[in-house]
Amino acid sequence: MAISAQAGPAVEACFLSSILEAVDLALSSAKRPVALHEPRFGARERELVMDCVDTGWVSSAGRYVTLFEEMVASAVGVPHAVAVVNGTTALHAALVLEGVRPGDEVIVPSITFVATANAVSHAGAVPHFVDSTWMTMGLDPVALDEHLQQVSERRDGQLFNRQTGRRIRAVVPVHVFGHPVDVPQLQALLAKYDLIFIEDATESLGSTWKGQACGTFGHSAVLSFNGNKIITTGGGGMILTADDQYARRARHLTTTAKIAHQWAFEHDEVGYNYRLPNINAALGCGQVERLPEMVAAKRALATRYMQVFENVSGARIFREPGGAASNYWLNTLVLDREFSDERDALLSMLHANGIQARPLWTPLHLLPMYSDCPRAPLPVAEDMFTRCINLPSSPFLSGERN
Ligand SMILES: *Cc1c(COP(=O)(O)O)cnc(C)c1O
Repeated sequence: MAISAQAGPAVEACFLSSILEAVDLALSSAKRPVALHEPRFGARERELVMDCVDTGWVSSAGRYVTLFEEMVASAVGVPHAVAVVNGTTALHAALVLEGVRPGDEVIVPSITFVATANAVSHAGAVPHFVDSTWMTMGLDPVALDEHLQQVSERRDGQLFNRQTGRRIRAVVPVHVFGHPVDVPQLQALLAKYDLIFIEDATESLGSTWKGQACGTFGHSAVLSFNGNKIITTGGGGMILTADDQYARRARHLTTTAKIAHQWAFEHDEVGYNYRLPNINAALGCGQVERLPEMVAAKRALATRYMQVFENVSGARIFREPGGAASNYWLNTLVLDREFSDERDALLSMLHANGIQARPLWTPLHLLPMYSDCPRAPLPVAEDMFTRCINLPSSPFLSGERN
């Protein structure tokens, strides 16, 4: 007893300093403090934004929105893209357009940014949490199947939750930190249960699975261009789809449902004012040109982290699942179970040394407004939360030595 009580703190201190040393080495001489994720702009972005300022086309009309939509659609390889003010509104509109109605349930992972569940709530629906898998950090198809077998039943051709009596309408898988979910298994499962697949691709622009881009797997998908995402428009989002009619409706609903006319103001339903302003789209046009360069730099940084952590025991860098090429939006350090109690000490130590690491999002079923929502057992989500941290992941950290 006495020996282990003495060995404990020494082992822990040694563990903490070996992690700090490795992160310091990976980030080399990058100026401290090192932020979690920062955008970077160049002359091109300045030129495009100044064009909006100089011409006065800063708001809801102007040529950059369409141009930006075309550029992203072509980068992802999807027929239609509709730009909106942020990723949350993109999700909200997508849920409404997919036919999610007040009182429906929508399956989401518990390990995701709160916006995924908030958008479901904004649509008047109820988030229903299902566990994640360590294979991808995203929704676990096996857990989803087992759970649906237990709680769901088919009535009049629709799927219902037997415990709540509510209709289960859609599933919103998230490619967490850029790592694609298990696409074929999820697609097969959603087809089996006849559930709509809406892809939360807000973190995975530039990620692929077997060469096909994230954002092309669901009936619709959403992107975010928030300041900390892979490319940014300041604030912005996008709805992607291959369905012509859905795309037309998406554009209509997100632009106040106004009927196109030279001067008349006619609206034919309660629409949303979600259109991305031209000045934000202009910034996006400059950013999307750099997407391949950003993804390459972020993958190089991930490789660097993996190299320095190869010789560290007690923790590892999360690696993309087989078949996937991740954009590594945020690098994740996974602590071994025996060190899960050290997470907060590690975060304090990193912050004290100018490294702005952070824990995972608090699993959504543990937040007060979502604690009563329907859910499957969530042991993996809780395990992930206790022993994962995100490390600084700005693309320029891979090369620059300032
Ligand atoms: C960023 C993000 C969103 C929302 O995007 P905003 O543009 O910030 O509204 C939604 N889901 C996930 C998983 C995200 O990371």
